[in-house]
Amino acid sequence: GCPGRLPELKGNIRVLCRLRPGTSSSLVSVEPGPGGTVTTCYRGRHRRFRLDWVFPPDASQEEVFRELEPAVLSCLRGYSVCIFTYGQTGTGKTYSMEGPPEDPGIVPRALQSLFREMGAGRQHRVTLSMVEIYNEAVRDLLAPGPPERLAVRQGPEGQGGIQVAGLTHWDVPNLETLHQMLKLGRSNRATAATAMNQRSSRSHALVTLTLRAATPPRAPGTAGTLHLVDLAGSERARKAGAAGPPRGDPDGARRLREAQTINRSLLALGGVMAALRAHRPHVPFRDSQLTRLLQPALGPGTTAVLLLQVGAGAAQASPRGQRTSGRQSAH
Ligand code: ADP
Ligand code: MG
Repeated sequence: GCPGRLPELKGNIRVLCRLRPGTSSSLVSVEPGPGGTVTTCYRGRHRRFRLDWVFPPDASQEEVFRELEPAVLSCLRGYSVCIFTYGQTGTGKTYSMEGPPEDPGIVPRALQSLFREMGAGRQHRVTLSMVEIYNEAVRDLLAPGPPERLAVRQGPEGQGGIQVAGLTHWDVPNLETLHQMLKLGRSNRATAATAMNQRSSRSHALVTLTLRAATPPRAPGTAGTLHLVDLAGSERARKAGAAGPPRGDPDGARRLREAQTINRSLLALGGVMAALRAHRPHVPFRDSQLTRLLQPALGPGTTAVLLLQVGAGAAQASPRGQRTSGRQSAH
């Protein structure tokens, strides 16, 4: 790397950026690597952002994971880690997080790396849960029955905890079982997506692994947690929002509410991260279900990595046939 160019350390939150292949260099240009920059151009206006790491469009899934692996493995030592993919729909959030079967992304690589590190004589008990947050409703994607809406409650005072009543945690004895469960969770999510018109790009998907030392740990009660979060698309609610849904659009009211709810929880996440980075005494965790749920994993002594996804050309059609605009917000 180039240590001379490393930015000032920003506490326990790292912000990385990945450009989607095919991104027009007239819209977004990058200076890759550690302490790299992203320059966006919108209507002739240039804005430059400095990040902890910038991945150029041709960066491989492996290169991206290499940057994340130390944080992932720290969960085995009892740390809490959150990794988010953030960006507009079509910028590659799910590609980075899940990846196609032939080119796996962060989730499968993290699991493989963790199980490899634990080795055959496993000293950890691994449990998995998976939820979706849609319109501020938290849904269990691994419930044995039909997915149910769950209540998020504040845990007992002093434990700083959040309790999601009735959330399913599966014990995962091995990697194969883990993959089967993830598949189940994804299919539960996909079913809703078809039924509810691209719901998946409007909801947050959280995969959570808990790693508890099987032998009595030196620090009793510690369990490492890894949250892998594919955030909802960060596109803005229509400017016309204040005036109500567009005329002649029966779905408009629902979509508008979705957009505003998504923005609220993304805004809340931004607010929480800003407060944490500035070491402010009050961190507004309670502003959304997403931040309430992740509160224990975002407090002191934890690590958060935000992977900003940026890109796409001026008029590139996504596979869903929607057009993605060249306008991206890089923060
Ligand atoms: P998002 O989840 O942000 O809406 P996707 O992950 O679905 O976006 O990506 C949109 C499209 O771009 C998909 O067809 C995906 O396969 C492709 N894509 C995104 N990133 C990459 C990449 N790094 N390499 C190859 N294809 C990519
Ligand atoms: Mg996606």
